[in-house]
Amino acid sequence: MPGTYDLDRQGLAELLDGEPGFRAAQVWEGLYRRGERPAEMTTLPLALRDRLEEELGAQLDEAHRRTADDGATIKWLFSLAGGAQIETVLMAYRDRVTVCVSTQAGCAMNCQFCATGQAGFTRQLSTGEILEQVMVARRAAEPRRLSNVVFMGMGEPLYNLENVMSAVDAMADGDGLSVSKRRITVSTSGVVPQIERLGAECGPMLAISLHAVRDELRDELVPLNKKYPIKELLQACRGYPGASNARRITFEYVMLKGANDSPAEARELVRLLKGVPAKINLIPFNPWPGAPYECSDWETIERFSDIVFNAGYASPVRTPRGRDILAACGQLKSETEKLRARARLAAG
Ligand code: SAH
Ligand code: SF4
Repeated sequence: MPGTYDLDRQGLAELLDGEPGFRAAQVWEGLYRRGERPAEMTTLPLALRDRLEEELGAQLDEAHRRTADDGATIKWLFSLAGGAQIETVLMAYRDRVTVCVSTQAGCAMNCQFCATGQAGFTRQLSTGEILEQVMVARRAAEPRRLSNVVFMGMGEPLYNLENVMSAVDAMADGDGLSVSKRRITVSTSGVVPQIERLGAECGPMLAISLHAVRDELRDELVPLNKKYPIKELLQACRGYPGASNARRITFEYVMLKGANDSPAEARELVRLLKGVPAKINLIPFNPWPGAPYECSDWETIERFSDIVFNAGYASPVRTPRGRDILAACGQLKSETEKLRARARLAAG
């Protein structure tokens, strides 16, 4: 059975076959514009409300919810049908309200610095499971309006491309959430052939998890690099439909002490990105129990950032939000038993 947010307009129309023609649009707006559950759609006949509540059930079961000390970051742990768990984070800033969504339970990419990667892949999320994260966060953000969505939770979005694109299209729908595609960012570890499809068929903003400037090191940090090396990745970025100086591609670079944080690497980064409309986002590494890396020293990050800045890039160092609740990137679900067990092993 589909979940509340699994059906597109066409699917809703089919489900409501036999009802008056305006119903599908009415339900769509109830779901996405007003953020109602079917049971709350008081403009629908009671019998229909009951039927929809039954046939379009919720798919996320809140297993845990924590608010960070800053009060503006909320992290959820949701259980899905079948038992897998995912995380979603809401971040309220002064000028925007951003939700960070997961696209897979776990991740198969096995990046060495990422807690999710170390825990392995469980399963794909459906379109509805991706959208429900946004709808739950939207509700929690009220009275503020959700303004941005980032696909930076668990999973490699481009290995769940169809569902990710349907979810982006639903978020951008003008009769619903109306989050412009310029405010929706899909982050990928570099699935080259899917980058072009994402751009051509859907067109959200793109973020690339680069993290290294040499293939030898990137092969280690982001093993997908062995399949799609840096040169091919940057070629795909140069061709990303819609990329321009007004719509730059974000390059994420996690700062790992002694591994990728030298001034020479900063200069090489600048050289590599020549000709790509780029923004650079330096991310202090968020440690997790048993992690094989440490975060670079603050002075090292500043030196790196200065080189990038002097080359003409604004290089904001991403401030870790919600560190106290392990909600910062890559820490998603790092409190699981498995990782605790790994930490115990590492501690010897
Ligand atoms: N899987 C996708 C999107 C999710 S991760 C991707 O890799 O792009 C969002 C960003 O956080 C990525 O750049 C990822 O590499 C980074 N990240 C993962 N673990 C991290 C950690 N422990 N500390 C800092 N950044 C991390
Ligand atoms: Fe997967 Fe992204 Fe983590 Fe790599 S960094 S393992 S792609 S979630």
